[in-house]
Amino acid sequence: PVKRSQEIQLTRMKLPICEDEQAIMEAISENSVVVICGETGSGKTTQLPQFLYEAGFGNPESDNPGIIGITQPRRVAAMSMSKRVAQELSLDDKRVSYQIRYDATVSSKTVIKFMTDGVMLRELSGDFLLSKYSAIIIDEAHERSLNTDILIGVISRVLRLRKELSEEDKSKIKPLKIIIMSATLRISDFTQNRRLFDIPPPVINVNARQYPVSIHFNKRTPRTDYVTEAFNKICKIHTRLPRGGILVFMTGQNEISILCKKLRNKFPYISSDRTHRNRTVIKEEPPIDEPNEYIHKGYSDRNVDHEIEELAMGENDQDYLDHHDDFDTNSEDSITEFENDVLDKEYAGPLYVLPLYSLLSTRAQMRVFEPPPEGARLCVVATNIAETSLTIPGVTYVVDSGKVKERRYNASSGVQSYVIDWISKASADQRAGRAGRTGPGHCYRLYSSAVFNDQFQQFTVPEIHRTPIEGVILQMKAMNIDTVSNFPFPTPPDRDQLKKAEKLLRYIGALDENNQITSLGRAIATFPLAPRFSKMLIIGQQHECLPYVIAIVSALSVGDPFIKDYHLDGTDSDDGGDEDDLVNYVQTKELNEIQKEIIFKKERRKLMRKKFFDVQKKHSGLDPTSDILKFLNVVGAYEYSGGNEKFCEDNFVRTKAMQEIHKLRGQITKIVQANCQGVDVCVDPKMKPPSAIQLEALRQIIAAGFIDQVAMRKDLVDGMTKTFSSTRGIAYSTMWTNEDVFIHPSSVLYHGKPPDFVVYQELQRTNKVWMKGITIIKPE
Ligand code: ADP
Ligand code: MG
Repeated sequence: PVKRSQEIQLTRMKLPICEDEQAIMEAISENSVVVICGETGSGKTTQLPQFLYEAGFGNPESDNPGIIGITQPRRVAAMSMSKRVAQELSLDDKRVSYQIRYDATVSSKTVIKFMTDGVMLRELSGDFLLSKYSAIIIDEAHERSLNTDILIGVISRVLRLRKELSEEDKSKIKPLKIIIMSATLRISDFTQNRRLFDIPPPVINVNARQYPVSIHFNKRTPRTDYVTEAFNKICKIHTRLPRGGILVFMTGQNEISILCKKLRNKFPYISSDRTHRNRTVIKEEPPIDEPNEYIHKGYSDRNVDHEIEELAMGENDQDYLDHHDDFDTNSEDSITEFENDVLDKEYAGPLYVLPLYSLLSTRAQMRVFEPPPEGARLCVVATNIAETSLTIPGVTYVVDSGKVKERRYNASSGVQSYVIDWISKASADQRAGRAGRTGPGHCYRLYSSAVFNDQFQQFTVPEIHRTPIEGVILQMKAMNIDTVSNFPFPTPPDRDQLKKAEKLLRYIGALDENNQITSLGRAIATFPLAPRFSKMLIIGQQHECLPYVIAIVSALSVGDPFIKDYHLDGTDSDDGGDEDDLVNYVQTKELNEIQKEIIFKKERRKLMRKKFFDVQKKHSGLDPTSDILKFLNVVGAYEYSGGNEKFCEDNFVRTKAMQEIHKLRGQITKIVQANCQGVDVCVDPKMKPPSAIQLEALRQIIAAGFIDQVAMRKDLVDGMTKTFSSTRGIAYSTMWTNEDVFIHPSSVLYHGKPPDFVVYQELQRTNKVWMKGITIIKPE
């Protein structure tokens, strides 16, 4: 019997999917695969597991004793959705649990388990029958993440096997049920793919109770500065339009922080427990804890529709636009402007501004689900994390930059780049849809309809075509899927891509010359790491280097923890992803900090920069020969300090990254203990720095991991050795690309002499092709 609170019961009843519960459960009982399509917010993720649970799945006495598994492409979604479902079912996190790379709440009591698609894929290599599950829900299939695609392919095989085995002996193993869920109807790659499912699975369309959303295109498309454009649009919405949350789509953490800061400056939200100098300035400010008159006043006698139209025109209102240009550049001005604004009768009261991106702490992420303070309007500035995986309640207005930051990857050269590009039409529609969940809404697109029609692709390219695939290829081989070319990929990878992956796996010894997995390959596949990093671990058992190698591969897997000073190198090496930088670091501070900063900005920045350089030097060591050893140094120092936030602040590293590295270290250490006989390792918080001999060994281990990523100074290739005093502009040659590559200015090697040979962790294209994560193979 399921216990749900009255309140939850009422909220559930309103979800569109609950009307289809019976139809869905009938389809599931009659078919082994069922596809469910439903608008974001219709209740798929939170309700489907509960339907199964109530139908007896996961109950040891039932016909479906195995637990219910749900996969998510994003970690945030796996965690927050498991929490939500636990709450709805009044169960604890031992029963409704999650597992992601860095964290898990799973126990022997778990009945419903949320996990990332990566975790599920890994479980498959340990137990190909997935015997502990009775049903697997693959969520967000429309996103076409690499792992989800592979997972669907593999699971189609598991399904057949489970069926055959259960027909042999029903008491031993039961058939498995698969539910594939998508927020769009574009699922033919799964349903019409005969190699995947010989009988096309039934598709259930959840009749979404979507309210109409009016789409407003900009007349013109701002060439670059869509952050300012977004800011202006939000100001207009907030000051002129009736209540309702605003959801803004931006591309990355940097932009989000800038925009949040601007908005908070303009429409300060002051919590009652904090005093602030602006409080005395703002006479008109309504008390926070009473309903805000400013929000309601005047709308009844205004023609709202007219306002909305005017807003849609965007650049018509030139005064407004000009007035707010360069808000950020002159601090004195911004204060005056700020004061004028609050005296302006159009001032609409506080805006409760929340950022949302994946590197944000979990606690901060979860705040978007809580109602905003009385009288304040909610404004969430998000990456495309809010496009389909998280439904933020109460959104009436969507502001869409039309942009997304994406990783591009050239399969033959291995060169990566992060580009900010237009989203697809399908994504734009998804984003717009977020405004119509609670009532009719409006979507303001910061681009013209011409741009939308001519330059937006119909659909987003599946991740498999944008990312290295050696990791999943090895995992497939470890599951004895030998002929990868016969695998039922929803969309197959390019031949080049497959070849490059197999070649790399041969180089590191994971495959033999016939592309069959070796015993080393099997060992490599047991770690939740990229194959090169696992290889480093396996050969790392010399000179007592293992604890260091574990720390190194943990850092490499999580990513460079150092905050970059954006403006130092002039190459504008925007790292994509969700990377942080010094500017952000200053900007995300609390409001009163920002006020202080406005006055001391320049001085502080100067001091910061000096401190920043000192820290970089400190971690690079006396003889800077490797960016990767610099990571090791900071990981060691962090643990030594007890792993506190002060350390992170003082050392210009991201707290969340350091915590993840810490967790991954613990986890890898456990796996090593369990898998490698006779090895005794532990995470020693007081790990001594490596000795000279160990450093030499570590350098070799790193080189072995990046054996194919050797770069040679170009003059040596050309057979005419030169001497150089600086690395600037010195070209290197690699084996994967004919293009010249260069030492990135953020490297510890940048300020020394250019070495003959290096290994690099990755190539990244901005204005040139840069090597990053560099290690000198043999220092002089
Ligand atoms: P779908 O998977 O179809 O996109 P969900 O099941 O994620 O839909 O969401 C259904 C509803 O549950 C949404 O209205 C969403 O806002 C709400 N919801 C999800 N998580 C939470 C939470 N942690 N707190 C409050 N409401 C939530
Ligand atoms: Mg969902």
